[in-house]
Amino acid sequence: APPTKTAFAFDDPEHDDDLRPSSLSEVVGQRKVVERIQIILEAAQNRGDALGHLLFEGPPGLGKTTLAMVLPKEMNSDFQITSGPTLRAPKDLLPYLTRASEKSILFIDEIHRLPPAVEEFIYPAMEDFRVDIALGEGLNARTVNMTLKPFTIVGATTRSGMLTAPLRDRFVNRAHFDFYEHDELATLLMRNAKKLKTSLTEEAALELAIRSRGTPRKANNLLRWTRDFAQVRNAPSPISEAVTKEALAMIEVDAIGLEEMDRRYLTTLITVFTGGPAGIQAIGHSMNCPPDTLEDEVEPFLLRQGFIQRTPRGRMVTAAAWEHLKIEPLM
Ligand code: ADP
Repeated sequence: APPTKTAFAFDDPEHDDDLRPSSLSEVVGQRKVVERIQIILEAAQNRGDALGHLLFEGPPGLGKTTLAMVLPKEMNSDFQITSGPTLRAPKDLLPYLTRASEKSILFIDEIHRLPPAVEEFIYPAMEDFRVDIALGEGLNARTVNMTLKPFTIVGATTRSGMLTAPLRDRFVNRAHFDFYEHDELATLLMRNAKKLKTSLTEEAALELAIRSRGTPRKANNLLRWTRDFAQVRNAPSPISEAVTKEALAMIEVDAIGLEEMDRRYLTTLITVFTGGPAGIQAIGHSMNCPPDTLEDEVEPFLLRQGFIQRTPRGRMVTAAAWEHLKIEPLM
């Protein structure tokens, strides 16, 4: 299958592992989600049960995988990870299900991209910890039933709207992940700076936080870049706000965290579509970028920032965006 996510510069999920929290207490922010999970965890542990299946929804980089990985550590159980697009047929999912030990977590990223046949196959596994395997063909066809250990599926999706109703209904618990506050990201950055054997002034941490688009993954990546920049420039430790600003200017991350891609989206909407409304397909086509990537990785922050609006006729740029880009509206 072709890659579905465009890798942006300074946006490398593969390199995140050393900064991932290893317990629930190390998870910063996302209080509403964390508090609910603490209750679900404690209740299940008291009963000696597996957790009910969990659905995590929200934009990329906000900690869905991280939280899923913390659960088995809290419960002393196993963890497996896979993703919707790689599970092309029931036989691809079967080994994960049969390997799932009691109370273990099976994390399925991009669960909205499970093919229908795999989705059907997963229902009895989620409901009754059972799979129905079809063997043979024609007259010899028969179905074999297999019992699974009680385990937990944690599904993650950037598009809860794309989940079918039957699949969505099988998740007892659903949690929505939101963008982080600046102070939460600043806390995360101070802590992760230590893990990376560097240090930031409070002002530098806040500056990075403000430019991280409310996203821990961004914060970590900007932190890594700033560390490298400071090291090569022989900047004194702790890294100052001024050095941080210089580092971010070099990679063209602006004062509120917009990157080249975000600006290109806005200027395309403004110059090609005179501010909109324009459909996402058309915008993607003009930018030579998959519409999915725009919907997942660019639009959520622009929406939250109030720079674009989604209307029934398409996307429209707002006065705030013209103002930010210092462009006079043509009205
Ligand atoms: P998602 O699965 O939502 O795309 P991830 O869980 O992969 O996001 O998060 C990206 C990175 O950001 C993680 O590797 C982790 O280092 C960091 N991170 C995310 N959320 C948190 C959090 N709440 N506390 C601390 N670090 C976090």
